[in-house]
Amino acid sequence: MLCQIKPNAQIFRKCSFIHQFSKCCSKSLHRPLLCRIFGTAHMRDVLMLAAKNIHKRYGAVEVLKGVDIQVEKGEIVSIVGPSGSGKSTLLHIIGTLDKPDSGEVFLYSSNITHLHGNRLSEFRNTHIGFVFQFHHLLPEFSAVENVCIPGWLHKKNKSTVRQRAIELLKLLGLDQRLDNKPSQLSGGEQQRVAVARALINSPDIVFADEPTGNLDTANAKELHQLFFDLRKKFNQTFLIVTHNEELAQLSDRKLTMKDGRIM
Ligand code: ADP
Ligand code: MG
Repeated sequence: MLCQIKPNAQIFRKCSFIHQFSKCCSKSLHRPLLCRIFGTAHMRDVLMLAAKNIHKRYGAVEVLKGVDIQVEKGEIVSIVGPSGSGKSTLLHIIGTLDKPDSGEVFLYSSNITHLHGNRLSEFRNTHIGFVFQFHHLLPEFSAVENVCIPGWLHKKNKSTVRQRAIELLKLLGLDQRLDNKPSQLSGGEQQRVAVARALINSPDIVFADEPTGNLDTANAKELHQLFFDLRKKFNQTFLIVTHNEELAQLSDRKLTMKDGRIM
């Protein structure tokens, strides 16, 4: 069982309702509306991700020096900062790909810091999507198969997964590329397949690490637009590490990391 920090049934019901409600609304709509319905105090209840006092050291190097971060449902938050400042390390820790030396990570009210083994893999596959700088698509599989793989690992019905994969790829403008292998796709197309793969299990949050780092300006712009379209359509939450100043400026909040701290 995940550790629930809010066991009170009434609060839990309210959280689930707000979660469901906010799922249906774009951020611009749900923030003021939720404030009006529940009062500002309840805005805490739409907090999706919280990391508290994260420390990480590699040998003698202290990479993260007590990082706190919070992301609300439906937010697009970007993290910028110089190379080596700890951005990827932070993303890996809050994305459950790595463990902090100390500090805690919460998704909604669940402490996910200490999950391990199969339970961790299952949790990650269900709740978290990743997009990396290099797409990491499997070369021997088609675009649609690459998107399906996390759904199949999730033991969902094969044809339902395939149907959703096709819908997502169509939504991302790849209807003519469903059966192409990664080597037959452009860099921008490969990255859009990687985004579809990140979305196949309807994750709560998508972490992206330099998603446009390998793309030219036009493709980078297109991918940015895609993130905002996906937020509008699914109220999808994104936390994006980027060097792209334009994307950082467009996002709801820009956080700057320097020397293992958020400034
Ligand atoms: P950024 O993404 O901001 O460029 P990183 O989080 O990748 O920074 O790296 C921060 C620091 O941690 C760097 O000095 C890097 O060399 C070091 N580092 C990252 N991962 C490891 C690792 N697995 N082992 C040793 N040092 C690491
Ligand atoms: Mg990095």
